[in-house]
Amino acid sequence: MSAVSAAARPFDAERVRGDFPILAQRVNGRPLVYLDSAASSQRPLAVLRAVERYETHHHSNVHRGVHTLSQAATEAFEGARARARRFLNARSTREIVFVRGATEGINLVAQSLARSRFGPGDEILISALEHHANIVPWQMVCAQTGCTLKVAPIDRRGEVDFERLSALLSARTRLVAMAHVSNALGTVLPIKRIVEAAHSCGALVLVDGAQAVPHTVVDVRELGCDFYAFSGHKLYGPTGIGVLYGREELLEEMPPWQGGGDMIRTVTFEKSTYNDLPWKFEAGTPNISGAVGLAAAMDYLEGLGIEALAAHEHRLLELATGELERMPGIEIIGTAAHKAAVLSFTMRGCHPHDLGTILDSEGVAIRTGHHCAMPVMTFFDVPATARASFGCYNTEADVRALVAALGKAREVFG
Ligand code: PMP
Repeated sequence: MSAVSAAARPFDAERVRGDFPILAQRVNGRPLVYLDSAASSQRPLAVLRAVERYETHHHSNVHRGVHTLSQAATEAFEGARARARRFLNARSTREIVFVRGATEGINLVAQSLARSRFGPGDEILISALEHHANIVPWQMVCAQTGCTLKVAPIDRRGEVDFERLSALLSARTRLVAMAHVSNALGTVLPIKRIVEAAHSCGALVLVDGAQAVPHTVVDVRELGCDFYAFSGHKLYGPTGIGVLYGREELLEEMPPWQGGGDMIRTVTFEKSTYNDLPWKFEAGTPNISGAVGLAAAMDYLEGLGIEALAAHEHRLLELATGELERMPGIEIIGTAAHKAAVLSFTMRGCHPHDLGTILDSEGVAIRTGHHCAMPVMTFFDVPATARASFGCYNTEADVRALVAALGKAREVFG
């Protein structure tokens, strides 16, 4: 189906809600309104059942056994890898490394690639809207190697200024590490353009896709990026599982970062040799049921139609943005032209944590705090924001519940 016709297909969020039993509960005596999918999305029955089926009937350790269950587990795990390859349109399953999540994927690249290759005079470029997971690993590598961290600024809308970003690129830039979508602001970054600019300077590009994969079709070959990291739990899959995509030629040259079982071919006390890709980067027993659940989540999401879902979420975002813009005392933080499913805001006279608590008493779950993006809070000169984020199960009624609960908070804080 073409992107246009998929987007035009009506998206039935009410029906989708039925796939998520957790949403049927009441919280503080009110129907649960879950607006925190950017922190972690809920899992549909299809994912819960896939994990249960695996744990009930097929579990054993992978790769090392000749017995039937071990072969079934290996098949399930490697089948999940093949599913992830298709999800990202990677060339080969050798390019799909299972990790705990986006954080671990970024740390893998930092410690394996950057630590072994970068040194004084080299630069790593990030943006000012990054999650801590895409800041701190690079700071650690800079301390370890003597390379320098550069930061591309954002403007008052929360957009990365492409001209200023380009001006920071030079022959010294070894790696550009950037979010595809900002978790704190919702900004969608022009990743393809950034990849082209970085490559023209000879720099590699890592994309932090944690907030992008639930909302947009990601084709790593189309984007042209060298690495792409994301977490299962923001994609309607389990926690503790994620994917690092890496171009095969790069992964091949990179040293392993953790040692142990499964990542070796031979071990003597004098010397060990390493396994083929991608297992070279997967030391120890992996999260097998997590991978199975992640594959089921990818099936589920693609079954919904990612373009149709994105169009639905965009309608909710526009509706909520319009409503909040009309509310006195509310300031929306992050007004980029191109945003995905995240609405950050403050209410005058009310600390975001108090706001979150009042909304919770109305059954409305939003996130409050710095969203692991303290430099973004500093830039906008706020201690924290309240953040509503949307997923496949959210409806216009959820937006109305948010607005009503904010109205109550307004009465309290006057
Ligand atoms: N990057 C972004 C943009 C995120 O939103 C998050 C999760 N909040 C992460 C990285 C880290 O993901 P995880 O904690 O699942 O590793």
